[in-house]
Amino acid sequence: MAMAHPLRRLRPPPLPPPLLLLLPPLLFLLLLARVAESKYIAYNTTGGIVPDKLNVHIVAHSHDDVGWLKTVDQYYVGSNNSIQGACVQNVLDSLVPALLKDKNRKFIYVEQAFFQRWWRQQSNAIQQIVKELVSSGQLELINGGMCMHDEAAVHYIDMIDQTTLGHQFIKQEFNQTPRIGWQIDPFGHSAVQAYLLGAEVGFDALYFSRIDYQDRAKRKDLKTLEIVWRGSRSLGSSADIFTGIFPQNYEPPPGDFYFEVNDVSPVIQDDVLLFDYNVEERVNDFVAAAVSQANITRLNHVMFTMGTDFKYQYAESWFRQLDKFIHYVNKDGRVNALYSTPSIYTDAKHAANESWPIKTDDFFPYADDQNSYWTGYFTSRPALKGYVRMMSAYYLAARQLEFLKGRNRSGFTTGSLADALALAQHHDAVSGTEKQHVANDYAKRLSISYAQAEKLVEFSLACLTESAAKSGCSNPSTKFAQCPLLNISYCPPSEVELSQSKTLAVLVYNALGWNREDVIRIPVVDKYVVVQDSEGREVESQLLPIANASLYLRSKYVKAYLGVSPTVTPKYWLAFRVSVPPLGFNTYFVSRAKQAGSVSAMSTLNSSQGNKYSSLEIGQGHLKLIYNADGVLSKYLDSGSLVNADIKQTYKFYSGFNGTNTDPQASGAYIFRPGGTFPIKSDVQVQLTILRGSILDEVHQQINPWIYQITRVYKGKEHVETEFIVGPIPVEDGIGKEVVAEITTNMATNKAFYTDSSGRDFIKRIRDYRSDWQLQVTQPVAGNYYPINLGTYIKDNSTELSVLVDRSVGGSSIVDGQVELMLHRRLLYDDGRGVGEALNETVCVNDDCAGLVIEGKYYLKFDSLGEGAKWRRTFGQEIYSPLLIAFSEQDGGNWASSHVVKFSAMDSSYSLPDNVAVLTLQALEDGSVLLRLVHLYEVGEDKDLSVMASVELKKIFPNKKIIKITETNLSANQERAEMEKKRLKWKVQQGSSGAETVVRGGPVDPSKLVVELGPMEIRTFILNLDYLAFVSAAGP
Ligand SMILES: [Zn+2]
Repeated sequence: MAMAHPLRRLRPPPLPPPLLLLLPPLLFLLLLARVAESKYIAYNTTGGIVPDKLNVHIVAHSHDDVGWLKTVDQYYVGSNNSIQGACVQNVLDSLVPALLKDKNRKFIYVEQAFFQRWWRQQSNAIQQIVKELVSSGQLELINGGMCMHDEAAVHYIDMIDQTTLGHQFIKQEFNQTPRIGWQIDPFGHSAVQAYLLGAEVGFDALYFSRIDYQDRAKRKDLKTLEIVWRGSRSLGSSADIFTGIFPQNYEPPPGDFYFEVNDVSPVIQDDVLLFDYNVEERVNDFVAAAVSQANITRLNHVMFTMGTDFKYQYAESWFRQLDKFIHYVNKDGRVNALYSTPSIYTDAKHAANESWPIKTDDFFPYADDQNSYWTGYFTSRPALKGYVRMMSAYYLAARQLEFLKGRNRSGFTTGSLADALALAQHHDAVSGTEKQHVANDYAKRLSISYAQAEKLVEFSLACLTESAAKSGCSNPSTKFAQCPLLNISYCPPSEVELSQSKTLAVLVYNALGWNREDVIRIPVVDKYVVVQDSEGREVESQLLPIANASLYLRSKYVKAYLGVSPTVTPKYWLAFRVSVPPLGFNTYFVSRAKQAGSVSAMSTLNSSQGNKYSSLEIGQGHLKLIYNADGVLSKYLDSGSLVNADIKQTYKFYSGFNGTNTDPQASGAYIFRPGGTFPIKSDVQVQLTILRGSILDEVHQQINPWIYQITRVYKGKEHVETEFIVGPIPVEDGIGKEVVAEITTNMATNKAFYTDSSGRDFIKRIRDYRSDWQLQVTQPVAGNYYPINLGTYIKDNSTELSVLVDRSVGGSSIVDGQVELMLHRRLLYDDGRGVGEALNETVCVNDDCAGLVIEGKYYLKFDSLGEGAKWRRTFGQEIYSPLLIAFSEQDGGNWASSHVVKFSAMDSSYSLPDNVAVLTLQALEDGSVLLRLVHLYEVGEDKDLSVMASVELKKIFPNKKIIKITETNLSANQERAEMEKKRLKWKVQQGSSGAETVVRGGPVDPSKLVVELGPMEIRTFILNLDYLAFVSAAGP
């Protein structure tokens, strides 16, 4: 996205006449003297850097969104041009001859999703030419991910995966490693982008344009648009990255320098026989723009970003002008212009050996005007955000299973899910800022590719259970099925009639490196069921009637998504305890209870029926929640941690401002502009329905006609799970609404709260405050919203309250002691940033359309001060990676005698340390294995776990021999040592950094094979394993 504001299409007026005085009189005379001749002009474009001049680095580029107003494929082929005249094929096709025409011309290309579409359609001859253009540096592939990912609504694991995918291709085809981060359009910038997707990838610099307008004004004054960004407290200076913020945007500088075929900027007319000769005017415009930019930039190098969205569709029309500018500007001599790239520009800045101002934390939130905070998109399209998160976790687990089964070229792979997920990370995809038909396209791609990965998973599980993997499993007879719509209570494989002979095998896979004790829930039709473990022992289980709100969602959305109505209706959730080994599975059996035998326990049910009655307590273990006589949650008591806290859990909505003639900024897909705040209260007293059992207690509340809430407390788990069903948000009153869940305590939090950076480091936020400038508060709510991917917390001098989320949302702490999460938004006006649609999502069954209903969960826990990180990190990882559940019907026979029922890929005595997770375990095409390990804690975050961790690789891969281990950079396209050697080091200004202790793991001894990880460290390895020794490692 970029064209954004209609205002942005207006060009500033031409420079005033006095600037003409800058033109040296001699040049004037020379030009006049040549009036008579007109002939071929060989433009001199050879300009390199001239040390004692102002150097203008001309960076020719096109910003090609992999979906926004049109779908990625429509943009590529140039269809649907009535929406936007954009064809990326034109860009790449026309680029080749344009670059060949003059070897000094240079271009950068960014979005690999487009580049790869184009590449596979090219002849060998063109591919060869392009390879030469890349190797000579005329065409530089930068950023290098499949898309330019968003930085607010994207989880860091997805950022890594989509970047790796693009970088792998560039390495394979061109043997190149991109040097530059080019995040020019995302709407605010994450610390994780700087230190992880920048420094740890091996980038020498990061460039972008969108920062807060107040911040930008100050940085222009102080010449601090270029900085060294230290994004990680834990990794400190070892992950610094040079960062350049553009003075205005990523388009050409002010002064009319747009040269697409239909653009209106004056071209250079230098043929003396034609009218309107304008060389001197245009040279003056260029010099003026250069001087103006130099006035806000350190050193004598400035960058002109010559291009914008979907430009260079006829590349020659730009290059022709750029050739002339370089030729005439350099002849003029006041400044030096050159064809350049961000790499050349970065090297020039580095060569000066300057000390740069340092920047910590991040660039959120982003505002481009006083009432225009881009904080709405943190929540926009919550269903798509939830879907992306769910697919992200599935992709992680599916790659593990693909590895465990043994990857083969034929059959199903995770490749297409990798592509679909990569596209979905684009800054107009998961961000929710695309047109509706484009959002549908992303969801469709995820759905189609999920179906392929699902087959791979089912096949792999069948192989592993049949213990056939060692013999090269080709045709397992066990059939598994899964339930991607379990979140709306739809699971045909579990909704079957069982008998004593017909049982349901439930295989539960754990993608984490720890043993996991958890409760799973599946819908069933029969209440006479019993659950047994793999050794035939009965497992504690509990039946909970499925709420009407869930059943309504189920029937309506199954019809909408699948086009068919469910044939049976399950009556109960069957909840039971499972214990699953690390990187492995366990199997449970659900069968019909024998007449005389035990049966799954039905929850007891109480309903308040609106009568005032005394306070009520729920929770079977340490944790108790107390509801007051009005049926409102009032206390949280934990007899384990001795926390005793007052709490209120409520909903409210912000009315979306509609915009007026004089104040046109509406709330929309990008921008959150509340008109007012309205508490949501039920018309009648909140009715509670309470379900109790030995595993969990549930409190059901119909908050209002369109909000249903289920609060769960599990025995043995000391946190609260809140499931919400929100929608359709009513808009018949002509007012859009942005729905917020609010948790209120009496904690004295002194304006402070903490939110995660892309699911990783927590950053301290202070209400109405920015660390880099004196904030003028114009939007006291929208201006205090931050993106949340993992969670948020507040603390006072004795207690912490943590809230974790199941997808990315926006949130804040608008008053002390309070936390709020924006769960859903439905708006009726466009917010003027280019998408041209109101964010008004509906779901239709036949022609009956209603506002989108979303279902989701958030989790909360109180801890004593300093104790909260353990839950946020460990449980946060469990939220990200839910247990993968697969079902198989068993008719007679004995499953356990013919199947492996319990499995761990790891040594049966081993488990990863509590502070480490497996981020990637993936069989690569060449037979090697990609392994990423992540330390989950920051420096100082936890007294026990913020320490160096060690992982024994031999125990992760028992029965396999690690023949070779190579540590790489984060995107796995170069050896780590090589990357560290060549990555540019930058000096920072004195006084801006204190003493630091950075802890990183040491080199891996290939005989011991122990990997150390310091706090927040992620280490990436390519392993070569000897598969001959592979034996299916059935656990005990
Ligand atoms: Zn964009």
